[in-house]
Amino acid sequence: DEIGVGELASRMKKTGAEVVKCLIKNGVMASLSDVIDFDTAAIIAEELGCKVEKEIIVTIEERLIDVSEDKEEDLRPRAPVVVVMGHVDHGKTSLLDYIRSSDVASGEAGGITQHIGAYQVSVKGQPITFLDTPGHEAFTAMRARGAMITDVAILVVAADDGIMPQTVESINHAKAAGIPIIVAINKMDKPEANPERIKQQLTEYELVPEEWGGETIICPISAKTGMGVDSLLEMVLLTAEMQELRANPDRSAHGAVIEARLDKGRGPVATLLVQNGTLHQGDVIIAGTAVGRVRAMTNARGQKLTEAGPSVPVEIIGMGEVPGAGDDFHAVADERMARELVEQRKQENKDRLNGPVGQKVTLEDLFSQIQQGEIKDLNIIVKADVQGSAEAVKSSLEKLSNEEVRVRVIHCAVGAINESDVMLAGTSGAIIVGFNVRPDNNARDSAARMNVDMRMYRVIYDCIEEIESAMKGMLAPKY
Ligand code: GDP
Repeated sequence: DEIGVGELASRMKKTGAEVVKCLIKNGVMASLSDVIDFDTAAIIAEELGCKVEKEIIVTIEERLIDVSEDKEEDLRPRAPVVVVMGHVDHGKTSLLDYIRSSDVASGEAGGITQHIGAYQVSVKGQPITFLDTPGHEAFTAMRARGAMITDVAILVVAADDGIMPQTVESINHAKAAGIPIIVAINKMDKPEANPERIKQQLTEYELVPEEWGGETIICPISAKTGMGVDSLLEMVLLTAEMQELRANPDRSAHGAVIEARLDKGRGPVATLLVQNGTLHQGDVIIAGTAVGRVRAMTNARGQKLTEAGPSVPVEIIGMGEVPGAGDDFHAVADERMARELVEQRKQENKDRLNGPVGQKVTLEDLFSQIQQGEIKDLNIIVKADVQGSAEAVKSSLEKLSNEEVRVRVIHCAVGAINESDVMLAGTSGAIIVGFNVRPDNNARDSAARMNVDMRMYRVIYDCIEEIESAMKGMLAPKY
């Protein structure tokens, strides 16, 4: 049995140079294009932190991180994780504040005093976890690296205003993420509140109220007086119940970084949401390219914890550097190997920045991705200067669908391309089409960072033609 040196390197996620250097150290003068026997490969793998099991090379990552499936009998119910979304000034912060303070009133030990990015309250004895990050960060918090961390979205719509651009963005983020939406019609205490008008508007976004034969739960509330918030929370529990959310508390913890910052006195501070397993004080964790030992854990009540189970958010100290919000984290058994993996990830990030960037959807690669069966849906976000054009572009694009690929416009709105559009594109593998609009500065920076393809057009025909050519692999090269 033999293996190419290049292939060995890529299977171990090492650079060719590292492998060749290690070979030479062991007296084997081989280059990247040479083939070596398996026994030699096994020795090299061992030295580079990997392992050969039944002739299969196992990377450090695979040795370190347990991704085994949970057994049915090990699963226990867990609290739902809820995000509050909606247009600016419609009352997201007020609602989160009200829920936080009403929980204090319900007699729980210790009030929620700390802002750590997430908190847990109990409603009729049942816990609910809230992501305490209104605004655009909520979209990022909702998904970590494209994986879902949220179970339910509460969409706040002000009864005296109606559906606004960020309301639509929120709806489309939640839909793209596939999480159920509960609508809270807020500011019902105001005399000019008009909930019927809002219900009518919601139907245009496929959110049809239950009372009209649809499936969308609508709760009239006032975040100011607290009216209706109790039943909103009960609806959250009901919706969560139908999802049968479960996790296995008896394994090493895994989850997502909700927030992270550098504290002058305490060093890197991160809020983690445990998604599976139980995190213990003293655990070694790896989050993105940060590694460290959990020195102390606190919840939003400022209480010290020694362990945190599924759906529990905790603020921890002890990381060597500040992890990125949205990174996933894993508790691991071997600190030395964790440090090695971090070095490897840093190298990969560097390679990615220097080398050609692939992976994400771009019009240039579209055809080959379709051919290789990597893409079944071409997700597109359409932004235009006027509603009429937006709708026209949307329907023309969707008509381009064929047997191989379905064109899906996942968000269609009027206005400049903003950061939320880029985030949605990044997490759902979409390209952005701008029609007589430009990206704002934040959007441009994020798109460059996240490698999101944005295309600007002045004429609808040009846009349709270019996408159609790309689907057929006949895109004219850009000069
Ligand atoms: P956010 O931008 O969505 O987080 O909105 P805020 O929670 O900051 O609320 C915006 C404004 O609306 C603030 O002045 C709040 O006091 C007010 N507000 C929020 N909820 C209610 C409500 O239920 N009734 C009334 N009358 N005002 C509210």
